[in-house]
Amino acid sequence: MNSSKPERTNLEMTEDLFAFLQGEIPAGCHYIDVPQLTAAQAWTVIHHLGNLYWQVTDFIHRCDVCGDLYDSDREGEYLDFGSPPFGFCEACCYGPEAEAKRALGHEE
Ligand SMILES: [Zn+2]
Repeated sequence: MNSSKPERTNLEMTEDLFAFLQGEIPAGCHYIDVPQLTAAQAWTVIHHLGNLYWQVTDFIHRCDVCGDLYDSDREGEYLDFGSPPFGFCEACCYGPEAEAKRALGHEE
């Protein structure tokens, strides 16, 4: 991580928080009690903050297929019907899971 970089995107900042909650402490930070959440638990915290308290952006989503974070204002797709997965990052948008879900949607 290059700390001299002036602007960090919302996606980068959310990725930092996501990593932090899983025990990745940034250089220069010192904590006695380091959080060691699973990726799923870390995402629950970020989702909760974003959707209930607006302390983090609510347009950063986590892909339900690969688990990567993505900026839903710029990429990815949310297929809000049927059963999970719902959120797809750009890389997974046209993967087999997304195609299968779209095919299901067209049948309804
Ligand atoms: Zn993905």
